[in-house]
Amino acid sequence: MSHIYDRVALIGLGLIASSMFWAIKRTGLAGEVTGYARSEATRDTARRIGLCDRVCDSALEAVEGADLVVLCVPVGAMGAVAQDIAPALKPGATVTDVGSVKRHVIQAVSPHIPEGVHFIPAHPLAGTEHSGPESGFAELFDNRWCLLVPVEGSDSDAIARLRALWEGMGSNVDEIDADHHDLVLAVTSHAPHLIAYTMVGVADDLRRVTDTEVIKYSAAGFRDFTRIAASDPTMWRDVFLSNKDATLEILGRFTEELFALQRAIRTGDGEHLFDYFTRTRAIRRGIIDAGQDTDAPDFGRGKANP
Ligand code: NAP
Repeated sequence: MSHIYDRVALIGLGLIASSMFWAIKRTGLAGEVTGYARSEATRDTARRIGLCDRVCDSALEAVEGADLVVLCVPVGAMGAVAQDIAPALKPGATVTDVGSVKRHVIQAVSPHIPEGVHFIPAHPLAGTEHSGPESGFAELFDNRWCLLVPVEGSDSDAIARLRALWEGMGSNVDEIDADHHDLVLAVTSHAPHLIAYTMVGVADDLRRVTDTEVIKYSAAGFRDFTRIAASDPTMWRDVFLSNKDATLEILGRFTEELFALQRAIRTGDGEHLFDYFTRTRAIRRGIIDAGQDTDAPDFGRGKANP
């Protein structure tokens, strides 16, 4: 495949940036990929494992001459990073990001984008509970959605090029408005993470009472919560602080439903519970039919990998 960009700069070298690097290299989507992370330890690791063609000791050096700059840092750090790199951005270059929240990132980054540079926010709906430069892999984005969130006046050629990059990395690409993105993600990702954090926190409190049984006899439901609740604390703190309104709206609705189910249990309303669980089961079917998860029992973990 011919290059989509001559030079791509990845700022922040964690799960998403490292997966992007391996996915770009898989089919040669860029001529050269430079990278920068704030800590020397991460830069050393990147050099050791061959992550990026060139690891730079400053963000300015990494973005110099880049046609595409990808901000791969926590949502709360996007504005400061954009401010740092602004003086070195090449006219005609595109700046994009991979942040899990869009309205906040647009507000934080846009003021720093110089005239003549395109800014096209994006969010790949793909991830794992692991983080850091060694956690990435080329297949992370395969058959996963990447949402582009063009801002007012975004250049259509620049959007098409970024779309081609994400498609080349294996993603299905859609465009979406920032506020709608933040509401949808509050339902599908942000609120579920908070619920998982809460459930594991409750179990941890209980563990003090029941000693080790919660861990020892950990059943599939709880284990799935612990996987989600192992996600990076900095990233998730920033997600909740920057997608506050949408998350609070969804949590409000969640609490109402929880009370309704609590009441059904208390009053022995089996019909309510049965109907509710029948409806939710259909949603799982829809996700599998859309090719977004496996139908295999226990999420395809298998016996060898419990
Ligand atoms: P990660 O593995 O934790 O890596 C984060 C990177 O950002 C590291 O290189 C870190 O540098 C750097 N960083 C952290 N705080 C910083 C700060 N204050 N200033 C400058 N750099 C900083 O994170 P990730 O999972 O790749 O997430 C990156 C972005 O992708 C986030 O915005 C997140 O919302 C989004 N995202 C994540 C997922 C997911 O499932 N993980 C999915 C989709 C989108 P050091 O290593 O030097 O500390």
